[in-house]
Amino acid sequence: MNADIVVCGAGIAGVSAAYHLAVKRGLNDIVIVDSLPPLTMTSDKSTECYRNWWPGPGDAMVRLMNRSIDLMEELHHEAPARLPMNRNGYIFATADSDNIETMLASAEEISRLGAGELRIHRNASTDLEYVPVTEHGLADAPTGADLFLDQSLIRKYFPHLTERTVALLHARRCGWFVAQQFGMYMLEQALARGVKLVKGKVESVEVKGNRIKSVKVASNSGDEVISTRNFVIAAGPLQKQVGQMLGVELPIVCEPHLKVMLNDPYHAVPRKMGLFIWNDPVKLMWTEEESAALAEEEETRWLASELPAGLHGRPEGEGDMILLQWVYHKAEAGEPVFPVALDPQLPEVALRGMATVIPALSKYLNQIPKPFMDGGYYARTPENRPLIGPLPVEGAYINGGFGGFGMMVSCGASDLLAKHIAGAELPSYTPAFLLSRYDDPQYQELLKQWGASGQL
Ligand SMILES: Cc1cc2nc3c(=O)[nH]c(=O)nc-3n(C[C@H](O)[C@H](O)[C@H](O)COP(=O)(O)OP(=O)(O)OC[C@H]3O[C@@H](n4cnc5c(N)ncnc54)[C@H](O)[C@@H]3O)c2cc1C
Repeated sequence: MNADIVVCGAGIAGVSAAYHLAVKRGLNDIVIVDSLPPLTMTSDKSTECYRNWWPGPGDAMVRLMNRSIDLMEELHHEAPARLPMNRNGYIFATADSDNIETMLASAEEISRLGAGELRIHRNASTDLEYVPVTEHGLADAPTGADLFLDQSLIRKYFPHLTERTVALLHARRCGWFVAQQFGMYMLEQALARGVKLVKGKVESVEVKGNRIKSVKVASNSGDEVISTRNFVIAAGPLQKQVGQMLGVELPIVCEPHLKVMLNDPYHAVPRKMGLFIWNDPVKLMWTEEESAALAEEEETRWLASELPAGLHGRPEGEGDMILLQWVYHKAEAGEPVFPVALDPQLPEVALRGMATVIPALSKYLNQIPKPFMDGGYYARTPENRPLIGPLPVEGAYINGGFGGFGMMVSCGASDLLAKHIAGAELPSYTPAFLLSRYDDPQYQELLKQWGASGQL
C-alpha cells in the first residue's frame, strides 16, 4: 500500500488533522491508522469545554485558541443542530481576599494577550454593563471577561455560590460543545474526501537517511507495510512510544484524570452556570464525630485535612446531570495503563467539596446520587503547551501534547499542522509550538521560571 500521508491515531488529534489536510487543504492520499474505533481512547472522555482564556508568557496560546474557536464556530454554523456549542463561560472564584491581587493581575495580562476586554465590576457608577448568560446566545455573547470585586454584585448574579466568595472572574469566549460529535463530523467529511481509515496498530516506522520511508501496521488480518513520505504522530497517551519508533524523544508525560457525573434533580447547580472553578483549597465539611473518626485512621486522615484548589464542574445537557472534576491527590505522571484506574472515593469527595462552595448541593450528602465515572490521560508537555509541526526526521510531524485541552485546540492545531505539511504561510505563533523550542537555551531558562500552566 502507498499513501502520501499516514496519520497515526484516530483520536481528535488524528481526525482533525486528516480533516484539515484533506477537506481544508485539498491534499490527497491520506490514511489514518488506529486499532481502536475512532475517538474512543481519550477523546470521548473529556468534559468538552473550551476557552480562549490562557496565561502567558506571550500571546501564542491565546491566539492559537482564538483561531481554534473561530474554526469550531465555522463547523457549528455548517451543522448547528448536530454540532451545538454554548458560550456559558468559565467562572473562577475565590473566598480568599489575599488572592484578589493575583487574580486581577492575571486577568489584566490575559486580556492584554488578546483574550478580549476586561470589565471590572466594583459596584461603582463607572462600571461597564454585565450581560448574564441568560441574556445572550452564541452569536451575541460578550468576549473578554467580567471581574467582580464586590460581594453584593456576586450575590446578585451568582446567588447559588457560598457567601464567602469575595472575587469572581467570568471569562466569556468559553463554554462547551459536543466535542466528540465535532470529531465524528470531521472524520465523516475527511472520509468523503477520500481519506482511508485502516484498522491496525503502527508497530514500527522505517526511517532511511533521516527520511520517513514506510510504516508497518499490525492487525488481525496480518501485517501490512505502507510506503509513505509523511507520517503524523497523533497517538495521544502513546505518542511518546510512537516517537521512539523514529528515534525522536518527545517531552511528554501522562497524568490520569477522572470525571464524575451525578444527577442534580433539585438544580442546586443552575442549568446555565458556566464551568465553575474554585481557586482555593477546600476543607470538607464533617461533623465533629466524623472528623474524629477520620483522623483516627492513616488512610482516611487526608479527608479531614485541607485539599488542593482546582475543584471544578458544570451542568451537562438538557436534563439534571452535573459533571465534577477534582485532582485532590497529585496526579502521578507515568506510563499510561489501560483502562485508567477509577477512584471509588471521587464521587463523594468531589460532591462534598463542591457542596462547600455551592451549598445547595449539601442536600445530596445523606444519599449520594448514583454516579457514573470515567477518565483518561492528559498527555502533556512540561509547560502544558502543545507540540505541533515537523520533527527532526524529514517527513515526520506531531499533533500532540494536548494535555487537558485537546478537544478545544484540535481545530487550531490541525489548521497549523496542515499549513506546515502543505507548505502554506505560517502564522507568527508557529515557533511557540515546535518541538525545537526546547533546543533554545533561552527557552530552557524561561521554563525554569514558568508561572501558571493554565491546566485545570
Ligand atoms: C477527564 C478528562 C477531561 C477532559 N476535559 C477536556 C475539556 O474539557 N476540554 C478539552 O479540550 N480537552 C479535555 N480533555 C483532554 C482531551 O480529551 C484530550 O486532550 C484529547 O482527547 C487528546 O486527543 P488525542 O487524539 O491526542 O488522543 P486520543 O483521543 O487518546 O487518541 C489517540 C489515538 O491514537 C491511537 N494510537 C496510539 N498508538 C497507536 C499506534 N501505535 N498505532 C495506531 N494508533 C495508535 C489510540 O488507539 C487512540 O485512538 C480532557 C481529558 C480528560 C481525561
